[in-house]
Amino acid sequence: MFEKTGIPSKEMVTGKFPSIERINKGPVAVVECYKEIPCNPCETACKFNGINVGDDINNIPVLNIDNCTGCAVCLSKCPGLAIMVVDGSKSEENVQIKIPYEFLPLPERGDIVRGLDREGKYVADVTVVNVLNPKSFDRTPVITIEADRKYIYELRNIQVEA
Ligand code: SF4
Ligand code: SF4
Repeated sequence: MFEKTGIPSKEMVTGKFPSIERINKGPVAVVECYKEIPCNPCETACKFNGINVGDDINNIPVLNIDNCTGCAVCLSKCPGLAIMVVDGSKSEENVQIKIPYEFLPLPERGDIVRGLDREGKYVADVTVVNVLNPKSFDRTPVITIEADRKYIYELRNIQVEA
């Protein structure tokens, strides 16, 4: 399915996630880069040596979980919008997810928006808890949403009503 549609299977997705124990400790990146492509801005953008591509720029990036602070800088630098940050430390019921979002209008903090999966299908309503759009992110804002934990492997995008 991935080769035809570009949509990863559930196993491919969960294979990119850090453990729930790590997610519950605080924010950490999920690097959903599945194909060998000549690309490495994620590696060069990270000040913490949190992502390794290595000598061959075609290598699939590997998250260095121990170094990642979940700062979200790499989300704005990845041309494929392939990275998100998950944080299970805020509550037992919910998870916070940071996603790169390049559509307009941007949501505002406190908005309830439609949470979508990797196929663009509706999953659940989610709450926008932060919107980061500094100049250094170069027109790739990062939106933090909060949602029920049970959707952690499904949510990947949002839809904002104009
Ligand atoms: S979230 Fe921050 S610390 Fe983690 S890999 Fe990305 S840039 Fe590095
Ligand atoms: S910047 Fe994005 S697309 Fe490029 S290697 Fe890193 S994760 Fe993959």
